[in-house]
Formats: sequence, structure tokens, C-alpha cells
Amino acid sequence: MILQPKHFEKFICIGAACKYNCCQGWRIRIDVETYAKYRNLIDFAQEWQDKINLDNKSIKLKESNQECSFLGQDKLCEIYKKLGPDNMPEICKQFPRYYRIFGDKWTQSLDLACIPAIKLLLTSVAPIEFVYSDKEEKPNVYWIRLKWEDSKVKKFHNQLNEICIKMIQDRTYSLEERLLWVANFLEYVDQNEENTFDLMDEVVVDDSEDFIAGKTNLKMAIYSEIVDDMLKVCGQKNKDIIFKDYEEKLKYFKMEILENKDHKPKKLFYNLIKNSKTFVNYKKNKSYNHIIENYIAYKMFVQDFPVGAAMTTDELRMLLFKLDIINLNILVLSFYNKSLDIEEVIVEAIYFFERIVMGAKISTIMYPSWNRWFKNNSLFATIKFMTN
Ligand code: SF4
Repeated sequence: MILQPKHFEKFICIGAACKYNCCQGWRIRIDVETYAKYRNLIDFAQEWQDKINLDNKSIKLKESNQECSFLGQDKLCEIYKKLGPDNMPEICKQFPRYYRIFGDKWTQSLDLACIPAIKLLLTSVAPIEFVYSDKEEKPNVYWIRLKWEDSKVKKFHNQLNEICIKMIQDRTYSLEERLLWVANFLEYVDQNEENTFDLMDEVVVDDSEDFIAGKTNLKMAIYSEIVDDMLKVCGQKNKDIIFKDYEEKLKYFKMEILENKDHKPKKLFYNLIKNSKTFVNYKKNKSYNHIIENYIAYKMFVQDFPVGAAMTTDELRMLLFKLDIINLNILVLSFYNKSLDIEEVIVEAIYFFERIVMGAKISTIMYPSWNRWFKNNSLFATIKFMTN
């Protein structure tokens, strides 16, 4: 039985209408079976050979814009048009769907480097649900086996995962309280050797620190370093239209906000908030929190949270890092286009994080800057700062 998000089967690729088409910037490997078919079907005509890298059996990208060489001017796939959907490389048929096996648990989900997938899975007000697929058959292609890490909690991973998702979806608490609740729970898990864990029945909020005062300058300095890190990567890949687009938004944010001498450093963060109605709406109008909640629950589901690192609280720290970069993206996008609808902003903020930061594996470059925050703040202070 395969566990999947409830709306998984409803996903439809919008093809030529897609704003950030996935047929660019990525190496597209051709699986062995499909490669053999191409040789038989078309006798490997010169035109096709020119578009395929024979050494590593992948499709070449166009030099000018890093698009797949089989993507036509009409933004439609030439392989699809000439040979039909069954003869596309497996990875093209599957994306953004992917399958995972972890222990004895099979899951299938959608990669969030696809805007329609984000909209389908995360934007409905109802909490995201995970259900078993009706199909008994397990996929025999393109799945990822996550290695069992040497973690003391690995034998409870299903139980811990369900508890964490339940906590994050309990709307009787604010999002901040729910994250604090998960932090309380994971600290308990890390400190105790038990054979079973139950849902904690109360949230312990540590109010002992002055969470905001004096921290905004550090936060903005860290954001500034992260923006520089991202700009470096985008600069190297600026033939790719997605990186180019993101780079333009980051440059605007850096020039207009981070380097604007009119903003007194001490009040920088508050000035930022004052200058974008979209961002104020996002911060004040918590009615958009369901998208962030659904994102957290979904990431917990796809990553078997909190299993991975030896300490479960380290996994929470990684999750907070992701949320904070999405926060930064929300800030960047709301300044770039002040009239954009906040839901669009959040969706694009998630997209750019998943496609660029996670997709290009640049999180490792940015994480050390971000981790500096932790040297000065506790897990609880971080959650408080991020959610206020
Ligand atoms: S990103 Fe998603 S919707 Fe867009 S072309 Fe790719 S699979 Fe289709």
C-alpha cells in the first residue's frame, strides 16, 4: 500500500501554460529502456543524436537558455508530439511525481519545484491529508530509497511522524505555539529512552528571553549574507530563465532595501514591514497561515520527519531553516511586486526555495550563515522570532 497526499492523483501538468516550465536547467537522464526504444523507433537519426548526450545518455540543454533541446518554440515537447507520451523518458513522464521507500513504508508525492503542484497540495484551507492509494501496484521505476540513518528513533519513525504532523495541524493553537509544541516534544524525545511516545498534552512556552529587541539587526545581517550567497549561485546560472528571474528580484531587494541608506539600521526590519502592504498583510492576516502549515506538514510527510539526524531537534532546526528562507523569499517577492496577491507571493516563495535552493543544492552554502543565528538564540527564540 502506498501512502500519498489526498489530492496526488488530481495533478495535471499545464505544459505550455506553465510560468516556470520544468524542462530547463536540469539534466534529463534517459532511462535504459527508453534509450533502447529510441534506437529502434527512429533508427537514431542525426537530428536526435545531436540532441542527446551519448556518453551519459541524457538530453542536451540548449546553450542559449538551458532549455531541453526537445522543447519546441511552442513550449511543447517534440518527443511527446512525435512519439507519444509513452515514449518520453521515464523522468519526464513521472515529474513532479516521485516515489519513496523508507523502511517498509512506501510513499508517493509531488515535488514542489512545480507551481501547479504547490497550488494543488498546499493552498486549500483544509489541512493536508495523507491517504492510502487504491492502486496495489508499486512503481518499479524512479523511486528513492532513503538510507536508514543511525538514529535511536528510527524504530518509532511512523509513530513520531504521525504525532508531529498531528501537532502541526492542531488549529486550536497558533502556528507559533504548534512549532513550540513540536520543539518541546522533540527535546523530550532526544532526552528520553522510551519504547513508545504519546502526543504531549500541553505546550510549554519559554518566555524568559527578550525575543525581539536587539535581534533584528542580526537577522537582517544574516539575510544580507544569504542574499549574497544566492546571488553568487544565480550569477553562475543566469542563462537559465528561472535563476535569472530570481536573481533580478534578489538584486532589487538588495539595492532598494538592504543597501538603502535611508533606512536607519536599527529600524530596518520595521521599515521593511512598513514599506510593503503585501508583507504587512501576510504578517497581520494570519488567514494565510494554512499554506505554511500545509507546507510544514507536507515536508514532515515526505521527509519522514523527525528521522534523519542523530538528534531530532536538529531535524527541526533544518525545517526552521527552510521556513526562514521561505520567509525571506516572501519579503523579497512582496517588495519586488507590491501589488501581487499574497497567496501568489507565498506560492512563488515556496517555489523559488524548492526549485533553486533545494533543487540546485545550494542550501549547504547558505546554512552556515543562517546557523550563526543559533549561536545567539535558542530553538524557542528562533520559532518566536520567525512567527511574529
Ligand atoms: S513544472 Fe509542473 S506544470 Fe510546469 S511543465 Fe513541469 S510538470 Fe508541468
